[in-house]
Amino acid sequence: MALMTGEQYIASIRKRKMQVYMFGEKIENPVDDPILRPSLNSVRMTYDLAQMPEYQDLMTVISPDTGERINRFTHIHRSTEDLINKVKMQRLLGQKTAACFQRCVGMDAFNAVYSTAYEIDQKYGTPYFENFKKFMLYCQEKDLTVDGAMTDPKGDRSKAPHEQADPDLYLRVVERRKDGIVVCGAKAHQTGALNSHEVIVMPTISMGPEDKDYAVSFAVPMDAEGIYMIIGRQSCDTRKLENAPLDVGNEEFGGVEALVIFDHVFVPNDRIFLNGETEFAGMLVERFAGYHRQSYGGCKVGVGDVLIGAAAVAAEYNGAARASHVKDKLIEMTHLNETLYSCGIACSAEGKPTKSGNYMIDLLLANICKQNVTRFPYEIVRLAEDLAGGLVVTAPSEKDFRDPDLGPVIDKYLKGTENVSTENRLRILRLIENLALGTAAVGYRTESMHGAGSPQAQRIMISRQGNLAQKKELAKAIAHIAE
Ligand code: SF4
Ligand code: FE
Repeated sequence: MALMTGEQYIASIRKRKMQVYMFGEKIENPVDDPILRPSLNSVRMTYDLAQMPEYQDLMTVISPDTGERINRFTHIHRSTEDLINKVKMQRLLGQKTAACFQRCVGMDAFNAVYSTAYEIDQKYGTPYFENFKKFMLYCQEKDLTVDGAMTDPKGDRSKAPHEQADPDLYLRVVERRKDGIVVCGAKAHQTGALNSHEVIVMPTISMGPEDKDYAVSFAVPMDAEGIYMIIGRQSCDTRKLENAPLDVGNEEFGGVEALVIFDHVFVPNDRIFLNGETEFAGMLVERFAGYHRQSYGGCKVGVGDVLIGAAAVAAEYNGAARASHVKDKLIEMTHLNETLYSCGIACSAEGKPTKSGNYMIDLLLANICKQNVTRFPYEIVRLAEDLAGGLVVTAPSEKDFRDPDLGPVIDKYLKGTENVSTENRLRILRLIENLALGTAAVGYRTESMHGAGSPQAQRIMISRQGNLAQKKELAKAIAHIAE
């Protein structure tokens, strides 16, 4: 079975015995928890859309390894066309969920580990590439969702992993056994950990020889013994408990992050992809980050499409759609959004094969993509709020709206244009609120800033990849300077 249906996916997650904590309590049934369920529904869409003939080409590929049809989220990119299709698939999913659908971190980890493990083996004769391929084929065959865990808590940022006062602030090997290793530590901000079958752990920074125990990459089941997660709070999350779906804005979909703790987790030898070869930690980080910076040129654009649409509808409901400044703001939002998409497509089109044969995006352009993502969604949100009007944050609750005495009053005074119901007006405003300030703002706003690396991380890469020396030579040649 190479493709699961959405329903089979939910059933498969239900079987996993994940250790999940939220609001100081252990969540025995995360699948049906009203706060957590929307995030599961978002991942489910990566399965549901793969079953639909109209999306088959984007959502699935024929595996070059097995000849089976597999979900693109478990695929190793073999061409620039693959890279471009990845971005298009992410835009589609952003449009269908208006949230983070989480499965990309695994896909990006797959492709980064694939090429890095290959190069480590070339240098040291290690078995990491074979280990990884075995794991990859297992995930493809079972159509699993995989979390890609990179970000360590990092403690004192001025210190290397081995210099930290608390050695667990970077995930590390605490015991080396004949049959494998035991690791301790944590990974922060873990997108989709809760809804994943497996997790690929990677280091978070370049490392020196003294960080040997920290240069480790491996895969384990998300419900492996010793792993537990503490769910991150989101703005307005408890609205999902109020039985007032209108106030939630996006009732069906969401995203969730968690702090994932690894407390003496055993990793068998055949699940290890890096173990002490410190000079390859940086390569793995750079490649994973590069792929995930490309990803944002797809997913954030898809969510942006929904937000632009919502702003246009809100303006229409206010009777303002024909005003020239409204039209111009929508043009500006579209311009910003499509610029992000252009970057996602460009870094894919300029991709090149790695030594292992899989395709890597153009790193400079992927970092430009993500740098723009740290800015443009903020401007798009600002313009959406401008077009929506103040009611986006002052509208009464659904409970008041449904109240037999207050409802008619709200209906009368919050009406926009004559032919549009007040309820529909409130619905579109709540969606904008959700994307700008509510639960989805985690994925659309702050994650645009910090996800796949904070802005400064891209600027370092841009300075490394920008080839200033060549630009200076160009200028000197034109100016006839001979030094
Ligand atoms: Fe995918 Fe975007 Fe979520 Fe990252 S932020 S997992 S790229 S949807
Ligand atoms: Fe992300």
